[in-house]
Amino acid sequence: MQKYIPDFYYKNIYEISYKKLKSKNIKTLLFDLDNTIVEAHKKVINLKARKLFQQLQADGFTVMIFSNSPKRRVQIFEKALGVKGYAMSFKPYSIGFQKVFQKNNFVKEETAIIGDQILTDIVGGNQFGIYTILVTPLSTNDFFLTKINRYRENKIIKKLELQKLWKRGVYDE
Ligand SMILES: [Mg+2]
Repeated sequence: MQKYIPDFYYKNIYEISYKKLKSKNIKTLLFDLDNTIVEAHKKVINLKARKLFQQLQADGFTVMIFSNSPKRRVQIFEKALGVKGYAMSFKPYSIGFQKVFQKNNFVKEETAIIGDQILTDIVGGNQFGIYTILVTPLSTNDFFLTKINRYRENKIIKKLELQKLWKRGVYDE
């Protein structure tokens, strides 16, 4: 069950203690896109997200969008947020992680993935050996494949809660 458990858990990307991440020597942040940065069916980014991404970069983090969505969707947000993006990442599989790490010389021990899905973002990150940060999805309006994943995810969460390994809604500080 360990692969399903995130290292950190926050309500949303604004509540994350980036200070704490800094203290763990985390320098690179791979952000999932849909329902993490922006609602899955929306194409417009709000000012709050733009400011956060500016601030993180000013604070010395390397920030990237790491998404399973197609390039045409990821590109919109690369521009809007002023960061690089990697589309069709095939999370939870390691292929996308491997490519992005090789190309950018990222260090596993210094990298965290931030996302709203246990089965893609958290499992992928845990199996690849980087820090994992789960956030609550911005909306329940998921893309079709995600809807299937959510069904499985809910079952896993129930198991984790029964075994007292992790609990939904109990966030880190
Ligand atoms: Mg997502």
